[in-house]
Amino acid sequence: MSATPVSHGGFPQARSAEDIARNLAAVRARIVAACARAGRDPAEVRLLPVSKTVEEARIRMAHAAGLSEFGENKVQEAREKAEAMADLPIAWSVIGHLQTNKAKYVARFAAEFQALDSLKLAEALDRRLQIEGRSLDVFVQINSSGEASKYGLAPEGAAAFLRELPAFSALKVRGLMTLALFSADALRVRACFRLMRELRDRLRQETPDGVALGDLSMGMSGDYELAIEEGATVVRVGQAIFGARPLPDSYYWPGGAP
Ligand SMILES: *Cc1c(COP(=O)(O)O)cnc(C)c1O
Repeated sequence: MSATPVSHGGFPQARSAEDIARNLAAVRARIVAACARAGRDPAEVRLLPVSKTVEEARIRMAHAAGLSEFGENKVQEAREKAEAMADLPIAWSVIGHLQTNKAKYVARFAAEFQALDSLKLAEALDRRLQIEGRSLDVFVQINSSGEASKYGLAPEGAAAFLRELPAFSALKVRGLMTLALFSADALRVRACFRLMRELRDRLRQETPDGVALGDLSMGMSGDYELAIEEGATVVRVGQAIFGARPLPDSYYWPGGAP
């Protein structure tokens, strides 16, 4: 199975509704094929389309093609899009690192937050959600590659962290999220995904009441098939649907441009 390739570029631009629909169909077919290789039911895998840097007109096309949720890495961009497209029934998922002082924005518009990585942030989100009278699905981000350039808790710290979360009643814990090593070496990428599945399985046996750890959000355009083979239940796919982004991914990672 390690022959499944990892690719990090060359995704053609999707300019029209037809382009988007065609890419979407191709991604879905690959999800089905990856599930077949792993003996999994495709209904267990949720495709979260990632629309960061994609402008409103093309997101509207994607919505017309049947997509009703989108992942955004930066809260400011996500907020602006949520406001501009408030006429559409879209669920926004914030999938990137969040500064505590921006928790209030996420508490207002997001349906889901996938990058929970500190108690300070959990506290801030919970407080703002209580004020808004809302709850939020959250994923705990784990640094599965050990790279200093990635956010997320060290795998060893996850158990203690999860034990604290029931105190924050507006946070509905759904699972774990990770960004694998950014590498063309499928074996090393796969090792990140496998670590996540093993961690989830171990943690599940000791999670407190109210903390569900069913979901594993892992896999992006270059590596979602590998992630599915290793147990992903959510894949976050942008470029394979919308085309290559003009900005390098490092822009979205710690130390990248603001
Ligand atoms: C951008 C991004 C993705 C999707 O990456 P693609 O290469 O566009 O598929 C997934 N997860 C996170 C956290 C991201 O920032």
